[in-house]
Amino acid sequence: MNESPVRIEQQDADELRAHYTWKKKALEGGSVVVFTGLVAAMVVRLMQATDLWAHGWLLLVAFLVGMIAADFVSGFVHWLADTWGTVELPILGPTLVKNFREHHAAPRDLAKKGLIETNGDNCMVLIPVQVGVLLMPIDGSAFWVLFHAFALSFAFWIMLTNQIHKWAHMRRKDLWLPVRALQRARVFLTVSEHAKHHTVPFESHYCITNGWMNGPLQRVRFFRTLERIIWRVSGMIPRENDIGTHAAVAVAVKQGILPEGFQPTRHIVGTQSTPTRSLS
Ligand SMILES: [Zn+2]
Ligand SMILES: [Zn+2]
Repeated sequence: MNESPVRIEQQDADELRAHYTWKKKALEGGSVVVFTGLVAAMVVRLMQATDLWAHGWLLLVAFLVGMIAADFVSGFVHWLADTWGTVELPILGPTLVKNFREHHAAPRDLAKKGLIETNGDNCMVLIPVQVGVLLMPIDGSAFWVLFHAFALSFAFWIMLTNQIHKWAHMRRKDLWLPVRALQRARVFLTVSEHAKHHTVPFESHYCITNGWMNGPLQRVRFFRTLERIIWRVSGMIPRENDIGTHAAVAVAVKQGILPEGFQPTRHIVGTQSTPTRSLS
């Protein structure tokens, strides 16, 4: 084992695309409508409880913290899907994991997706969060204004994350001017920042809202530390389903997640051979 050079087993984009059904499309459309209605309700409640003069700075802080939190969560969920997910997982497999795997195999296809397909999944997962926030109390106190403004900012930026990600894959000349300006200002994820993720084996720069958290998380080896802990606890090898056992082991040894000389007991090859159908 550990032959060199390492052969990376990328997954087939057409096979991954077959997981996109009409039921899923209907669910996405409904989610966008419900999400939009709940955002409107959140805005109205916040406006009714807020004194703009007294709470202006609180709104600004909440907006910024919501942006940073959304960027972190975008990276964390992306890392979970890339590192540990399989397309056969119930619910998350044909949605979250499929989207990221398909995207790695054919990155430019994201730019061809419509508004609903791009944003439907994020709207769907935010709906329970929005309902939870709307059930929380609100009055004119600083705490509740901060909480609800943060929740609104977080929901807004998470919803926009995949759209921002799509813009990071489009040609500059095809982007609206405000989008280009916000990319230049680094409020939206930039093309160059995101390109760092799109290099095999897809093991860094997971944050895709504005990318602000990528540098700090990389410096503290945040994801590598989690991968080592998860391997020690569960025996699961990071990225095994995505790039195949041999490549995943080689990458993990190089990064200090697995010990030198680690010998896997099975050989998994992408979606064709997931941990549930492993070969010995
Ligand atoms: Zn990825
Ligand atoms: Zn991408």
